[in-house]
Amino acid sequence: MNFQQFVVAIDGLAASGKSTIAIAVARHFSWERLDSGSFYRFVTLYFLKNRINWKDEYALKRELVGLRFDYRPPDHYLEGVVVTELLRSPEIEKYVSEVAKIPVVREKVNSFLREYATGKKIVVEGRDIGTVVFPEAQVKIFLVAREEIRAQRRAAQNKRLPFPRSDAEAEENIRLRDSIDSTRDVAPTRPAEDAVIIDTSSLSLDETIDLVIKLIEERMS
Ligand code: C5P
Repeated sequence: MNFQQFVVAIDGLAASGKSTIAIAVARHFSWERLDSGSFYRFVTLYFLKNRINWKDEYALKRELVGLRFDYRPPDHYLEGVVVTELLRSPEIEKYVSEVAKIPVVREKVNSFLREYATGKKIVVEGRDIGTVVFPEAQVKIFLVAREEIRAQRRAAQNKRLPFPRSDAEAEENIRLRDSIDSTRDVAPTRPAEDAVIIDTSSLSLDETIDLVIKLIEERMS
């Protein structure tokens, strides 16, 4: 990690509040925010669009060489077309955790994230940011929330998505992804030993944001 760089890692399972908090905190400091999950979603879209069988190791490695991230914050482009919204579709959510389990895919995403963050003050959100991607991050937060609170948040989030589906479908998908993401062999979702674990169940959004901002200010001074 170079001298200028300051990384805030925000990890947690789906609907733990990561994105909302990461966006607010980055805005507060006028820093960049990087959503690592969107890159796994992008790889999944790329595989589906190009009909790549990711279970075929040979095809997978060959195709990954040709895959280029075209990220112009906050948008992802594929063949020159913005696909950011498409990355939230149920089709992508169905497969993304399977794709994210593959070690060579993780290496590809991680090297992009590390390069992108070089020399920046940046808030990076994901599942393994504090444990694997930036183990030397200056601030590591791991967000947790009680199951019923996360269910309420999922339902609210689901209503804001551009793709209609029932709450039950959205709920089922998140349960499945959480289970795959936290039990996989490579980089399972878990707090780093030096992470600050924040249970947001009984905190308001503003209280959580203030808490994270305070932690960052303490670490900077
Ligand atoms: O954060 P988001 O829900 O958009 O992430 C989509 C998926 O990408 C997750 O369910 C997980 O499988 C994968 N992911 C990951 N590691 C990260 C971020 C996301 O494996 N750091």
